[in-house]
Amino acid sequence: MNNELKHTIQGKLRGLFLLLLLLGMAAGSVWAIIAVPAPVVDRMLEADIRQESQLWQRRVVLHMEDPETAFEESFISQEDAKYLNLMPEASDVYRFRMLNSDGMIFWSTRPEEIGEYETRVHFDTIVAQGETYYLHEPQPASEIDGILMHVANSHAAGVREVVEIYVPLMHNGHFDGAIEFFTDITDRRNTFINRARASLIVLTTIALVALSVAVYMTFSANRMRLKQLNDRNESERAILDEQLRLAREVQLLGELNEWLQSSRSLDELFDMVGSFMTHILPDAEGSVYVYSNSRDVLDGCASWNGGTHKEHIHPDECWGLRRGRTYEYGTSEVDFVCEHVDDHDGRPYYCFPILAHGETVGLMHLRAAQKDGEGFKASKKLAQMCAEQISMAIANVQMRDQLHDQSVRDPLTGLFNRRHMNDTLRKLINASQSSGKKLSLIAVDVDHFKKFNDNHGHDAGDMVLRAVGSVLEQACDADDVACRPGGEEFTMIVSGNSQEDVMTKAELLRQAVEAIVVRYGEKSLPRITISLGVAHYPAHGTMPQDLLRASDDALYDAKAKGRNQVCIAAGAEIEPRASFEQAPHLGPEQPDDSAVA
Ligand code: GH3
Ligand code: MG
Ligand code: MG
Repeated sequence: MNNELKHTIQGKLRGLFLLLLLLGMAAGSVWAIIAVPAPVVDRMLEADIRQESQLWQRRVVLHMEDPETAFEESFISQEDAKYLNLMPEASDVYRFRMLNSDGMIFWSTRPEEIGEYETRVHFDTIVAQGETYYLHEPQPASEIDGILMHVANSHAAGVREVVEIYVPLMHNGHFDGAIEFFTDITDRRNTFINRARASLIVLTTIALVALSVAVYMTFSANRMRLKQLNDRNESERAILDEQLRLAREVQLLGELNEWLQSSRSLDELFDMVGSFMTHILPDAEGSVYVYSNSRDVLDGCASWNGGTHKEHIHPDECWGLRRGRTYEYGTSEVDFVCEHVDDHDGRPYYCFPILAHGETVGLMHLRAAQKDGEGFKASKKLAQMCAEQISMAIANVQMRDQLHDQSVRDPLTGLFNRRHMNDTLRKLINASQSSGKKLSLIAVDVDHFKKFNDNHGHDAGDMVLRAVGSVLEQACDADDVACRPGGEEFTMIVSGNSQEDVMTKAELLRQAVEAIVVRYGEKSLPRITISLGVAHYPAHGTMPQDLLRASDDALYDAKAKGRNQVCIAAGAEIEPRASFEQAPHLGPEQPDDSAVA
């Protein structure tokens, strides 16, 4: 990955370098085409003309009768002069002159300058030393002999390129003199310069095209590599995002599981489910229902993230429950809306039946919070996993509740057992101690129950005990607790009632039991009665066992006084109350040993 990036950056730099090179070359080529040819051509021409000047000199010398003498005496014969005057027409030289060793012009194609001296310094320093002297200068066209006839009026005739070349004449190492030739190289020079420029244009065009191709290829290769790199980056980022999302989901599921396992009640569990689900699946609004076996309905327990739930729904109202698997609305071409879904507006939803140990425990309903539901659909798997965890947690809490119930309830009547009675009494006494809330005990014992059993059998006795238990349970207000500590004895813990109200409650209990008619097979069992003993906290005791003993003592009082009546514990100062101060027991007077059957 890093290497790829390095290569891409290197490629980019290479491309930039090539581009700069291309621009530099383009600029250089323009400069070269304009500026370079002239000096190069001049150098080439100088070499040519230096060679040609040797030929011109030889031609002059060979046609002279006695060149040595002529240079020595600075004299040209008439015959020689005739030939020399023809020379400009037969060569590129338009003018030439002969100088003796002192620099005096002793013959020239311009006769007017004969006798003049060459005073320029190069004659002595270069030419007199036996070296050819070459001088190239632009000259006005008027200086060129013979040119005025054909180009005087043309634009090109303005300035001409003229070469002046001195060729020394040496004899036995002695400088005899020199011949100075003038030649007009304007046309030759222009032709060469134009050719050189054309060649340069062709060459630089080829080079620039090649370089442009290289730059283009480098850039496009680079672009391609960058694109590939970006694509790979994007896919790697997508994979990384997906992995992060999965890791987050796993973590949240783990946390959800841990919290759910530690919840103590279904209410607490549903609070946690609501908070977690809002967090885990923010695109979904949801609700959860728990199945009630006895009533064959599902009770709405919780909803979150904008979701709602009904109080109850029937299992038949949900396609998920009816078909026994997750129902997904909004993914098939044909699908039907569950009856329990309110305000259906076409948003996709899931119904996850919550199962545990193969049995229906409830239903989790999730609906897309947004109309398109894209994020929602993508999270089906996660939602399924959540539903599974929630199923297990609900089953766990239910099983724990069941075990707890079994440990605190009496199986015959469903009332609380002695252990729970003692625990509750201890807690309520503590609470009353700090809050001052009223607390009383009503001890209940069925009269002559042994005889009843003997006469009607144990099963009939059980049915009666169940009926008595149900009367007690129905008489319980919110804070009251009905218990069956054992045998045919019951206890009711009454909270928050005045002593008068407790006595009334006990009396109503007595009347209600007296009115019980239990059907056993074809016949109705005879009515039974109960005796009741009432004790109040703290008047009759501040410890659970004291209070229980006081209520038992009152119960024995009621038995002793003839049964089927209510007695209040004695021995402590109690709230003044007109009716019970004088009459500590209620109910009809009965003989001490009156039988029920
Ligand atoms: P008393 O009016 O003095 O209370 O007379 P009693 O016969 O009710 O008194 P006792 O305590 O002697 O008899 C209690 C009887 O209750 C004994 C037993 O047969 C009966 N009994 C105790 N537990 C059960 C039970 O779970 N089912 C049935 N059917 N009878 C029970
Ligand atoms: Mg008894
Ligand atoms: Mg009894």
